[in-house]
Amino acid sequence: MGKQIDAYSNILDLIGNTPLVKLNKITAPLTGNFYAKIESFNPGHSSKDRIAAYIIEEAERKGILKPGSTIIETTSGNTGFSLAMVSIVKGYKCILAVSSKSSPDKIDMLRAMGARVYVCPAHVSADDPRSYYEVAKRLHSETNNSIYINQYFNALNIEAHYKTTGPEIWNQTNGNITHLVACSGTGGTISGIARYLKEQNSNIKVLGVDAYGSVLKKFHETGEFDHNEVYPYRIEGLGKNLIPTATDFETIDRYVKVSDGESAHMARKLAHKEGMFVGYTSGAAMQAIYQLDTEGEFSEDSNIVVIFPDHGSRYMSKVYSNEWMENQGFFDTKNAEVPEEIEY
Ligand code: PMP
Repeated sequence: MGKQIDAYSNILDLIGNTPLVKLNKITAPLTGNFYAKIESFNPGHSSKDRIAAYIIEEAERKGILKPGSTIIETTSGNTGFSLAMVSIVKGYKCILAVSSKSSPDKIDMLRAMGARVYVCPAHVSADDPRSYYEVAKRLHSETNNSIYINQYFNALNIEAHYKTTGPEIWNQTNGNITHLVACSGTGGTISGIARYLKEQNSNIKVLGVDAYGSVLKKFHETGEFDHNEVYPYRIEGLGKNLIPTATDFETIDRYVKVSDGESAHMARKLAHKEGMFVGYTSGAAMQAIYQLDTEGEFSEDSNIVVIFPDHGSRYMSKVYSNEWMENQGFFDTKNAEVPEEIEY
């Protein structure tokens, strides 16, 4: 008998069980104790690994997927990368219909992970047969043994976080969490975690982060879709111009809106202050915490958990490029930290 080898059976075994890390310097001016759940520790470097693995494994359990089946989705973002990763390991084909606005880097990254990428024109409406939504739907209907992930309207997105991220946070805080701060895109992360935590302790406050230019906050407050709330913004993965059914609005106590510029500076500050190289929406969540603190949301004995959804390396040509920051005018805003003078 040879010695046992201490190895994971494949890369997917590393999904979940991400670390909770105390924030120290960046939170020094704030009231409360702050802990970040760092989702870039997932093997695909984002929280989307969880839903990719969960949704695909649920389909396997139901017998919908067989070896050689096809996984279809409409995103060039984190979900696309995670689906490609899970598909490669499990032996499925992965087709991603993406918008021509997606950067060549992102498309190359998906192809590097074995996905077949259809680049669809960005300028057409969602119901045009050439749009990435329609292309994905068509490919799904034409392909036997395929599933369309449809993350904004898939209840399994919430369930993935209810079954994994929620219990992890409850255990990591020994039930002492008082507040959750999380970005809301599809809403799967925040609603899944919130549903689990509130079942354990209904006093836990759940604070959602939304973007200026997105309808979520207004919809949560009024139950109405206000077209005036919709305009272009820079942060990717946060907020939406439609109402996703993967968001359980009842589990969320309130939303905070954050700006592109302040969120970008806060992401950079997380690297400088905490050594945490995280994505744009992590900066947005941190910015929301600063705003909530100003409003007196937290007290000395609050234990606040914030979700950092992905890794900074995905934003080298954006938030972490001085040229991009300059072109956005983010160094012109009040209190902006100009690179040569950065002294966080
Ligand atoms: N941050 C990033 C970088 C994302 O890609 C997403 C997913 N769209 C989110 C936050 C929000 O997560 P969710 O879709 O679960 O609301």
